[in-house]
Amino acid sequence: MKFISANWLLTCDDNFEIIENGAIAFDEKIIDIGTIDEFQIKYPKDNIEYLGENSVIMPGLINTHVHLEFSANKTTLQYGNFVKWLFSVMEHREELIEKATKELIDKELSNMISNGTTTIGAISSYGFDMDSCIQTPLNVVYFTEILGSKADMIDTLFVDFQAKLKSAITHKSENFIPAIAVHSPYSTHPFLIREVLNIAKENKMAVSAHFQESKAENDWLNHSNGEFESFFKDMLDQHKSLTKPSDFLEQFKNIEHLSFTHCVEANEKELEQIKKLGATITHCPNSNRLLNNSILNISYLKDIPLAMGTDGLSSNNTLNMFEEIRNAFFMHTNLDSAALADKLIQASTNGGAKALGLNKGILKKDFDADIIAFQLPDRCNNPKNLSSSIILHTSKTTHTYIKGNDELNK
Ligand SMILES: [Zn+2]
Repeated sequence: MKFISANWLLTCDDNFEIIENGAIAFDEKIIDIGTIDEFQIKYPKDNIEYLGENSVIMPGLINTHVHLEFSANKTTLQYGNFVKWLFSVMEHREELIEKATKELIDKELSNMISNGTTTIGAISSYGFDMDSCIQTPLNVVYFTEILGSKADMIDTLFVDFQAKLKSAITHKSENFIPAIAVHSPYSTHPFLIREVLNIAKENKMAVSAHFQESKAENDWLNHSNGEFESFFKDMLDQHKSLTKPSDFLEQFKNIEHLSFTHCVEANEKELEQIKKLGATITHCPNSNRLLNNSILNISYLKDIPLAMGTDGLSSNNTLNMFEEIRNAFFMHTNLDSAALADKLIQASTNGGAKALGLNKGILKKDFDADIIAFQLPDRCNNPKNLSSSIILHTSKTTHTYIKGNDELNK
C-alpha cells in the first residue's frame, strides 16, 4: 500500500469535495482518503510521502475522444471551415496515415502520460493504432468505428468492421476495452448503425458518435442542402440526407455508456433526446475553434453530463488535456470563471469516466487508483480559486499513477 499527501486533494466526486492537507492510500485501487492529520493517527507506522509545497492530488485526466491515427498532421490540413477541412482530410488521408507510424503514436501516448492523462477514448478508423493502444500503460477504451453511406458498399463495410472489432476483442484486457463508434449521422448508413448498435447492446459495449458538429451538417441533415450539398454530390453521387437528426438519435436507445461528441449545433429537442438517452456530451473546444464551428453553449446543456476530449491532431495542435481545458476556460465567457473551472475539471475526470463506463475519475474508496499530482507555483489561499489556479498553471504532472503505478517515476 502507498501513501501520499498534498496541500490540496480534489476528489472530483459528485459534490466536488476538496480536502485541504489531504492524504490518500492505495494499491491498484484506492483504499482510504482523509486529511493528513487523520492519516497520522490511523497509520502511525506508515510513511506518508508529502509531495511538496503547494502540491495537488486529483484523479487522472480522461481524454474521452481522440483519433490517434491522424497524429502526423501538423501543417497539412486546411482549417477555418469544416467542409474545406473534410476535403483536405480526404485529399491527404493516405500520406497522413502513412506518416503516423507506431513510433509516432507511442510518443504521443507517452506525452499524454506526462501531461496527466490516464485514460483515453480512442476512435479507430482503420485499426492502425491498435498495437500502440494495447501496449501503452494508459487505460484505453478502443472504439472501432463504422463509416460509409453508399448503399452498394454496406456489406463490404460491415464485414470489414466486424473483422476489426473481432481483432480488438481478442486483445481485450483490464486496460484495453473494446467499444463501438458510429462516425456521424451524415456519413453512416442507417442499416450499418442498426447492426453495430445491436452488437454493442449484446456485448454491453460503450458507444460514441460525432453529432451536430457543424452548420453544414445541420443544413444537410434537415434540408439536404448547404455546404455539404456539393460534397455529397461530387464525392458520393448522393443527393439527399439518409437521416434526420432526431431519427439518428432514436437509434441509440438502451446503450448504457453513450456519448455524443461536439453537439454544438444541437437544438433544444435534440438535447432533450440526448438527455433521455442518458448520454454524455463530449466537448472538444480546440477542434471546434480550428474548424470554425460554433462554441458549445454549456448553459444550454442544463444537466446533460459533460466530458472533455482533444479530438485528434487532425484538428488540434496538442493532445494535452490541461491545454484543452485552459482554452475552454477562456472561451466560455458567459459563465462565472470559478464555477466553469470546477465544471471543466469535473468533466475531465468524473464526466469522462461516466461516458466511457469506467470505475475511475473520482478519488474514493474502491475506485481505480488513477491519480495525478503536481505543484502550483505559489500558495492558493481559497479552495474556490483552486480549479482556476490548476487550469491556468498546469501543463505537466510530477506523478501519474495508473492503477497504482507511477508511470513517470519508474
Ligand atoms: Zn472526432
